[in-house]
Amino acid sequence: MAYRCRAYPDADQQQVLTRTFGCVRVVWNRTLAARHQRWHFERKGTSYAETDRELTVMKRDPALAFLSEVSSVPLQQALRHQHAAFQAFFGKRARYPRFKSRQSRQCAHYTRSAFSMRGGVLRLAKTTAPLRFVWSWPGVEVTRLDPTMVVVSRDPDGRWYVTFSIDAEAPEPAESAGHAVGIDLGVKDFAVTSGGERIANPRHLERKARNLARYQRRVARCQPWSANRAKAPAKAARAQRKVRDARRDFLHRTSTRLVRDNDVIVIEDLAVKNMIRNRKLATAISDCGWGEFRRQLEYKCGWYGRELIMIDRWYPSSKTCSACRHLLAHLSLGTRHWTCPACGARHDRDINAAKNILAAGQAVTACGADVRHSGTSRMRSAVKQELQPARAGITVLQGGE
Ligand SMILES: [Zn+2]
Repeated sequence: MAYRCRAYPDADQQQVLTRTFGCVRVVWNRTLAARHQRWHFERKGTSYAETDRELTVMKRDPALAFLSEVSSVPLQQALRHQHAAFQAFFGKRARYPRFKSRQSRQCAHYTRSAFSMRGGVLRLAKTTAPLRFVWSWPGVEVTRLDPTMVVVSRDPDGRWYVTFSIDAEAPEPAESAGHAVGIDLGVKDFAVTSGGERIANPRHLERKARNLARYQRRVARCQPWSANRAKAPAKAARAQRKVRDARRDFLHRTSTRLVRDNDVIVIEDLAVKNMIRNRKLATAISDCGWGEFRRQLEYKCGWYGRELIMIDRWYPSSKTCSACRHLLAHLSLGTRHWTCPACGARHDRDINAAKNILAAGQAVTACGADVRHSGTSRMRSAVKQELQPARAGITVLQGGE
């Protein structure tokens, strides 16, 4: 579990932290380049220990002497993250790690050896004064907080944050809700459930996204080197943060409600990344935040002892009649309603799909197919063997950051 709150570093701390961000970036980018080159020319992977040794070499380089001026812990952590990022990439769970840019969000991870937290007072390595932050959880006593990791970050709009990670005891499993639900994620509606509920995409998001586009156009139109040009990126970044926060809030409320009301949740493994390559749908889908939604469902199911089942994305959930299992040969994307030629049932396209998703998930539960444990939550993968025999694997979800 993690608590994130606004931080207000003083001028000295800002300087130290900015320098630390810079060093993290240098270490990340150089290590990434070296890894890349090694793979390209020698076809060899690079282990964490090798990157660690390389860091020692970097520090001895007089041109990189500044690396020794900051705490070594965030640098080491950057190597760990990169290693994890590569493992996720080779496991086909993430895309190829990218270079870090000066313009994007900056962060530095401090483990216990590089910070102290006593009585709600946080001190970071290489700084003298405590780091000021505003605690925003009235239900949690900050003076008793014992974090295992502290992450300091700065958003492109200039706001500072500090995130406290703690090893929390797993909450009590929630009482059985007595329901199971299949969820069909869509573009027009965010989601449709097998119970017939339509969860609309929030309207205010659209409006905020329009504002964002306006700011981004404005950046492009400003006179270069003008005062307005200098201010524009921060304004765009603020608009972007508002969109992101509103979207995250919507996803949290939706995922919490679904996990609270159901013992079993079945969703389709949508391979969001593949769909995003389709430019036409790209904006709509990345706006929906399906990947984030899935991640939230997974960890919340873990917290409350619920079961999340992912069914294979090739399952023809839209084209199968949920009443008699008749499979249509063709169903165009524009068709919202259809009547089953075999049993005469009238179907709403999305609700029918959600019902099929639920049925496919329950079929797996019944025959006890491939079950894997991922963290504390249970996930199962349901693969229609006759449809996709090669894809018996399961997507292991990973927490972000
Ligand atoms: Zn039918």
